Amino acid sequence: MVDYANANVSSEDGIFSTTAIQVNTGTGSTLLPVDIGHEDYVAVIDPDTAFWALVRKENLSDVFCGEEFLKQYGEKQRLLFDEIKTLRFGLKPSAVYFNPTERCNLNCTYCYIPEKLRQSGSHMSKNDLLRALEILHEYFDSNMPAGRKAEIIFHGSEPMLNKEAVFEAIENFKDTFNFGVQTNGTLLDEEDIEFLKSHDVAVGLSLDAHNELISNKTRKTWSGKGIFKKVLSAIEHLGSYCNFNVICTVTSENVCYLSDIVKFFHDLNVPACMLNPIRCTQPGARTIKPSEEAFGRHFLEALEYSYDLYQQSGRKLVVVNFANILISILAPLARKLMCDISPCGGGRCFFAVAADGSLFPCSEFIGLPEFKGGNIFDDGIDAALESEAFRKVTSRIVESIRYCEKCAIRHFCGSPCPAEAYSMKGDILRRGAFCEFYESQVRYAFRKIAEGKEEAFMWDNWDQDTETVLKISSL
Ligand code: SF4
Ligand code: SF4
Repeated sequence: MVDYANANVSSEDGIFSTTAIQVNTGTGSTLLPVDIGHEDYVAVIDPDTAFWALVRKENLSDVFCGEEFLKQYGEKQRLLFDEIKTLRFGLKPSAVYFNPTERCNLNCTYCYIPEKLRQSGSHMSKNDLLRALEILHEYFDSNMPAGRKAEIIFHGSEPMLNKEAVFEAIENFKDTFNFGVQTNGTLLDEEDIEFLKSHDVAVGLSLDAHNELISNKTRKTWSGKGIFKKVLSAIEHLGSYCNFNVICTVTSENVCYLSDIVKFFHDLNVPACMLNPIRCTQPGARTIKPSEEAFGRHFLEALEYSYDLYQQSGRKLVVVNFANILISILAPLARKLMCDISPCGGGRCFFAVAADGSLFPCSEFIGLPEFKGGNIFDDGIDAALESEAFRKVTSRIVESIRYCEKCAIRHFCGSPCPAEAYSMKGDILRRGAFCEFYESQVRYAFRKIAEGKEEAFMWDNWDQDTETVLKISSL
C-alpha cells in the first residue's frame, strides 16, 4: 500500500524504540501530507526528523489510520531525530573558505564583496598566508579525527591575483590539507592548470552563460570587457580532469537560457555544475534577481534536459545544487553543501578567512563587518567560533523563522541565506530570497524519486558509507 519510504543515514548504530507513535495530536509526532505534483503519489513528511514516505494517493488514510506504518516509523523515529540533530548541531568545522586577496580583476554585477575592496583592497602577504595555514593546521590537528584532512578553498575576490603565494601554500601544505580553488578562470594559463591538476586541487570556475553576449551582461572587467573566451579556454585546458566544476550564477540575465547552458557544459565534458540562485546580499545583485517563478520553471526544464542528455550520451552532467537536495532527502548526513539546512554551515561546518585575517562565518558575510568574529592572527579560531557574531548565524534555525517554522520541507531547504536575509530584510530571522524556488525544487526531487530516476541526477557512489535504516514497502 505504501510503496516505499526510506531514509539512509551514515550512522553505525542507533536507538530503537518499539512503541507505536501518536500522530498530529498532543506530544505525538507530526506527519504532513505534501502534494508533490505527481499523478499517483503524495509525500508524507515528518518535518522534525526529515522522515518521508511516498504514498499512493488512494492509500493515504492507511498511513494515519492504520497501525503498521506508524509502528514501523515509531521504531526508528528516535534514530532519525538524533541523526538530524547531529547534522544540525553536532558537527565541527572541517573546511575553510580562504580569501588570499581582496582584489578582483573583474567587476561582476552581483559580487558579494564590496566594490571598493575589490578595486583597491590588498593581498595577504605570502608570509601571512603561510602563517595562517600553520594556525589552521594546529586548529584542525586538535579538532578533527586523526587521518581526516580539512579542506582549504581559496576563493574570491579573485584568488589567482595572489597566485604565487597560493601556489606556494598548496605546495607546502599538500600533505596536510585538501585544497580547492574557486576562480573566475581568466588568469589561469596552461602551466597553472597543470600545477592544480598535479596537486589534485578541486577547481571551480565561474561562468554564467553559453555565449559571449549573455556572459558579458554580468561578468566583465573593470573597463567593461567580456571574459567568455578566456574562461572557455581554461575549461578546455581542464579537459577530462574530474575534480572540477563550473558555477553558474542564475540572474534575470541568464535565467531563460538554463537549458542552453546545461547543453553547453555537457558538450564541453564538464562533469558537474551548479546553477545557483544569485545571492542578494549586496545591492547590485538585487537589480538582477530573477523572478522565483521564472527561476523555478527554467531550472526544472534544465534538469529535465540534463536527464535527456544523460540518456542520449551515457554521460552525466551533475547539477550539484540539485543533487544535494536529493541527497538531503535520501541520506541527510551525506549531503555535501550546507546552505540547505538550518543552521546553515556558516560558522559551524566551515568558516571564512578574509585577506586581512578577519574571520567570518561564511564569505557571504565579508561585506558585513558586524559579523566579523575576530582575526586569525590576533584572536584565534576558537574565540571567533564562540563570538557573538558567529553565534547569530549558528543559532539561526528554521523553527524561529516565520512561515518556515511550519513548513514541511524545512530540513530540505534550510531557508537560506542568513546573510541575504539580514541584508535585504534587516533581520537574520527572516526567509531568504527564494522560498518559492526551494519549494518547487523539493517537490520536483520527490517526483524524480517517485519515478525511480533519482540516480540519474546524482554523482556516482553518493551512497557509499550510508545505510538504509527504514524501508516500508507495504502495510
Ligand atoms: S524558505 Fe520557504 S520552502 Fe524554505 S523552509 Fe522556509 S517556508 Fe519552507
Ligand atoms: S546559507 Fe549563506 S551564509 Fe550560510 S553557508 Fe550558504 S552562503 Fe554561507
